[in-house]
Amino acid sequence: MNELETAENICTHLGDIYEKFNGAVVPPIHENSLFIYKDFESFIEAMKDEQGNYVYSRGTNPTVEIAENKIAALEGGEKCKLFSSGMAAISSALLTFLSSGDHVVCVSNIYGPTKKFLGYLSKFDVQSTIVQSTDLSDIEAAIQPNTKIVYLESPTTMTFNLVDLPVVAKLAKSKGIITIIDNTWSTPIFQKPLQFGIDVVVHSASKYLGGHSDIIGGALITNKNIMKKIFYNEYHLLGGVMPPFEAWLLLRGLRTLPIRMKAHQESAKQIAQFLEKHPAVKKVNYPGLESHPDYELGKQMLTGYSGLLSFELKNNKFSDVKNVIDSLKLFNIGVSWGGYESLVLSPNHGHNEELLASEGLDSGLIRISVGLESTEELIEDLDKALRGKLTE
Ligand SMILES: *Cc1c(COP(=O)(O)O)cnc(C)c1O
Repeated sequence: MNELETAENICTHLGDIYEKFNGAVVPPIHENSLFIYKDFESFIEAMKDEQGNYVYSRGTNPTVEIAENKIAALEGGEKCKLFSSGMAAISSALLTFLSSGDHVVCVSNIYGPTKKFLGYLSKFDVQSTIVQSTDLSDIEAAIQPNTKIVYLESPTTMTFNLVDLPVVAKLAKSKGIITIIDNTWSTPIFQKPLQFGIDVVVHSASKYLGGHSDIIGGALITNKNIMKKIFYNEYHLLGGVMPPFEAWLLLRGLRTLPIRMKAHQESAKQIAQFLEKHPAVKKVNYPGLESHPDYELGKQMLTGYSGLLSFELKNNKFSDVKNVIDSLKLFNIGVSWGGYESLVLSPNHGHNEELLASEGLDSGLIRISVGLESTEELIEDLDKALRGKLTE
């Protein structure tokens, strides 16, 4: 349906079939584990295609399915399945394509637990190479005859480096290698990697897709053929599926995704520009700034920029980082991001500066998630915390 093609219309109306639910404007939560059948014949028929029928909620569920249809449409993909967490989606995506003896290439500074999972796979004799950059030539050099997956994150969530997605997708395709991207930072509102030839998109729905810091969830979007394989194997057998109530909350979050992303973008840009000029700040890592080394590349892939960014303090000892973080009043200290609330943290925990350096992370790096509070007040809060730092 043409009128549903915009992200706004997908998020508000796609898949909300009113006739099916007695005209309820909000689809109900189908909080049931199984579905019953009129007679044994029809049950047997349904069991032939568990992916296409409601049989058991570890496979398909009407509430979960509405959210899946919206996210598939947003990404421009054929199929989406929702998982109990981003990590359930990521681990399932990786396991789908890997067997003992295989190899994975991944870009640096990806989400920590994803990197840890790649290490965990060594017990099944799956090895990985973490490329210390996002450059095509370095990715190409890391590819081995047994490489099955190139795993990407672009932008990465600490330093926000970008990967040239169309070029990497083409290279991988020419070698029969699958590409997987974690698109959590951009959301499908700002980047649709399938359009660039990437095979599989994964998300943590715990971030912007949910948007209210009230659910843990994950999504995987790909074509029909790959999804069929995933559905009957990693989805069904590992069983890390999204429960109906979480899907209902996700639907509630999705309805405002486009306007939330617009607000996050506007506020984050002003804050990034403010930080860039601040005398206590050495550098701001935000792909929406013209000073970002990948700004031009980004314009070919990103249609906008979300609200997660980092900056590096000029005085970059752990005590400086700690002072600034503890002086902030509107930015709460906590993991995760992408919710309505502003958050702050640093990868520098005072005992790991050497490790950070080996990963190319400055010890004065502070990451903020710009929420939906007043931009002016957020800037004032940052200014006070940073000025406190200067006058010490
Ligand atoms: C949070 C996060 C994940 C993991 O998602 P969970 O829902 O916490 O399992 C994966 N990738 C990125 C980039 C994330 O920020």
